[in-house]
Amino acid sequence: MANAAKKHPKNVPGPWYVDLTCIACDTCTDISPEVFGRDGDRKAFVREQRTEDAALFLFAMESCPVEAVGSEE
Ligand code: SF4
Repeated sequence: MANAAKKHPKNVPGPWYVDLTCIACDTCTDISPEVFGRDGDRKAFVREQRTEDAALFLFAMESCPVEAVGSEE
């Protein structure tokens, strides 16, 4: 389960986030490069979150091998 206390500092404000346990596997950034960005270490963070992206977030949350994608809702 993702840890809201360890959010990546580059996440944009909103309920969805990526935490710092990301292992840079590129799964979520391949699912949606618009929604998930990569930092200099290739760790993912949320760079856009719109209501219509909820299905993408759920898919990324289910697909992340280390459960680094989470929601505060
Ligand atoms: S799917 Fe998970 S481990 Fe892979 S890049 Fe995204 S947040 Fe990181």
